[in-house]
Amino acid sequence: MKYILIWLLIFVGSILVYRAIVDVQQKQKFESLSFTDFINKLENVDEVKIRGNKIEGSFKDGKAFRTYGLVEWELIKKLYESGVRVNIIPEEKPSILRDILIAWVPTLLIIFLIFSFIRGVERGNARAISFTRSKAKVFVPKKENKITFDDVAGLDEVKQEVKDIIDYLKNPDKFKDFGIRPPKGVIFIGPPGSGKTLLAKAIANEAGVPFFYEVGSSFIELFVGVGSARVRDLFEKARKNAPCIIFIDEIDAVGRGRGTGLGGGHDEREQTLNQLLVELDGIESRGEPIVVIAATNRPDILDSALLRPGRFDRKIYFPLPDLKGRIEILKVHLKRVKADPNIDVEKIAKSIPGFSGADIESMINDAAIMAIREKKNFIDEELLMRARDKMIMGVERKGIYLTEEQKRRIAYHEAGHALVAKIEGPDPIEKVSIIPRGRALGVTLQVPEEDRYIMDKEYLMKKVSVLLGGLVSEELFFNNPSTGAADDIEKSTEIARKMVYEWGMSSLGPIAFKSKEEYIFLGREISRTETISEETARKLDEEVRNIILTCYNRAKTIISDNVDKLHKLAKELFEKETLTAKELDAVLS
Ligand code: ADP
Ligand code: ZN
Repeated sequence: MKYILIWLLIFVGSILVYRAIVDVQQKQKFESLSFTDFINKLENVDEVKIRGNKIEGSFKDGKAFRTYGLVEWELIKKLYESGVRVNIIPEEKPSILRDILIAWVPTLLIIFLIFSFIRGVERGNARAISFTRSKAKVFVPKKENKITFDDVAGLDEVKQEVKDIIDYLKNPDKFKDFGIRPPKGVIFIGPPGSGKTLLAKAIANEAGVPFFYEVGSSFIELFVGVGSARVRDLFEKARKNAPCIIFIDEIDAVGRGRGTGLGGGHDEREQTLNQLLVELDGIESRGEPIVVIAATNRPDILDSALLRPGRFDRKIYFPLPDLKGRIEILKVHLKRVKADPNIDVEKIAKSIPGFSGADIESMINDAAIMAIREKKNFIDEELLMRARDKMIMGVERKGIYLTEEQKRRIAYHEAGHALVAKIEGPDPIEKVSIIPRGRALGVTLQVPEEDRYIMDKEYLMKKVSVLLGGLVSEELFFNNPSTGAADDIEKSTEIARKMVYEWGMSSLGPIAFKSKEEYIFLGREISRTETISEETARKLDEEVRNIILTCYNRAKTIISDNVDKLHKLAKELFEKETLTAKELDAVLS
């Protein structure tokens, strides 16, 4: 749609430009002569074109002229006698119609387009204009390459929760006969890559019904009305294929609270949302065997109307996989590729806390690509670990050139992190490296021994201290801080802010403070009690600074007390560039 508009603009624009150019050209090309001058200069004239009382022509030196005057037979005879080539063009009746056409056609065309467009939308005539049609992808279950429940690893409880959806889609009438309220609207809540789409497809396949996929943002178009027409079209298609599943990914794009959010009331979104509600209610009242599944990562910003009974009234949470889940997902995806049977899956799973199913999949794909590139016959543990490092820390940038001085500084910076981490020990160090990767110039990689679901204050303080260790070390040994600690500062500030604002870990007590921007983002009205007074704001700032300073001092004490170790570590890092946990222990013992 946007393209049509852009093309129209270009079209109209070029007409205007063309006209302007023609105008200017005509003005420049012809010298305006008075009729008397023209008569006086007749012997110099080479050629004339006469149309009515307009005379255009050129002199023998090539210059063009234009003049107006009554052209009589006398004059024409004179011209012939002077050897001027004469060209008489029959005069046209000045055509008002033509002028109007030239002036108005482009404008009329645009008006016509817009009108027919709006009328099409108003009539709900989705066929009139193709871009109001839903582009939903349909997946009809096939025997081969079909995603089954077995392909969805880990999410055992979730799978249990959706069993009745499959029963319903297989046997909608049974539900009716027994008077069971069928599942209609289900909302899948969870971070990206946690398997929401995967499970929805698996449900469709297990039930043997078609699956309509649409992303919420594709309903939001430039023109008011297009989104709602698309929603209507999607549900119409689905109705013809019932029983089936409609899956709307990223529902928050449409389903954000109405009349709020950034950009205020967004007409298009409101209309689309209203249409969606109408369709959901329609399914409910007509009892059509269609299950609508929506997915989001932000249930908090959804319009409450969406979550009312009869609409998306069932919420299913998709957590990131725990250790057991990661092991299972690894197994599922390793089965797809040629993998060394000796891979210690548990060890790998332990080393990737916080990875989503999608992360695991892409890690294995990466390892497979490396295997092909290095002409290996299968994926082994070493390749997997390299793929993991790449995902966590970015690609090694071997090409980057560092001076000795820069390299030494990075070595001290990472040694600072590593030493504080070793002594504070919130999480064990897996490796320290000063090979630039991604945006970072060095890395100190810590991997928690177990998945952490809660973090206590002491743990967080240690984490911040480790983050500041790099900067402290640079300050102590170079007397001059650098920009290399920007990321560390940002991360530690974020943790400290959360401790104060969200987790009640300061003298301000267990109160959740939210900044104004956050409220606007959440699309809520801010009541007076929720805004933060200036005095409180100052205290909050102070508390954040306190945390940072305390941790900074901790790091400083640790490093100052262990200067020898730090020098040794930095030297070792400078030479070897990467130290494993074992090598690190050896240096420090
Ligand atoms: P979401 O819809 O939650 O953003 P997807 O379902 O699209 O995530 O997941 C993306 C990919 O990640 C899937 O195609 C699949 O390969 C992999 N994946 C995610 N979760 C799992 C899981 N539980 N088991 C197996 N693979 C998974
Ligand atoms: Zn750092």
